[in-house]
Amino acid sequence: MAFELMPLPYDSEALDPAISARTLGFHHGKHHKAYIDKTNAAVEGTDLAGKSLTDVIAAARGSNQGLFNNAAQSWNHGFYWNSLAPSGGSPSGHLASKIDSAFGSLDELKKKLAERGAGHFASGWVWLAEKGGQLSLEETHDGDTLADSGFNPLLTIDVWEHAYYLDYQNVRPDYLKALLDGHLNWDFAAENLERGSAWNYPG
Ligand code: MN
Repeated sequence: MAFELMPLPYDSEALDPAISARTLGFHHGKHHKAYIDKTNAAVEGTDLAGKSLTDVIAAARGSNQGLFNNAAQSWNHGFYWNSLAPSGGSPSGHLASKIDSAFGSLDELKKKLAERGAGHFASGWVWLAEKGGQLSLEETHDGDTLADSGFNPLLTIDVWEHAYYLDYQNVRPDYLKALLDGHLNWDFAAENLERGSAWNYPG
């Protein structure tokens, strides 16, 4: 069965003004859709047809860069839509105590995430992730992903220019600040932490 473009988990206006409906429309309807379509075209009629997206990513890693890029970007964007929320709330319970022990405080985590996101050279992703019970910040370049990495990703932020250029032009730190100030989906992070293994793309 072919992979589907998962619907946004909120209205396209729901993150405005942090992310405008125009940006979300292009990012989801054009960019994410293209990654899904290209992944489907590449796996159709091969041994990978019918496998999960994570299995496709793992199979293509290191052997088929074109498929890897599109499959990983398909997964990353699904994870990113879920990592954002109209009103992000704040971490509680187990997740909050993990954050305090790894970073000292939520504010310190946000500060470091802003630094890593702003400092990331060119296109990529910044992640809050867990491995062996320890939380850490990770970065991946271009389309690379933590989906099959041994890390359990909790949240991600897309730092490709297409994620923010229409709203912020080249000022990536302002995009990061807007997300960190109120649009990270801490409930999703907590679900990922409690599951203990990497999220699966639906379908
Ligand atoms: Mn993107």
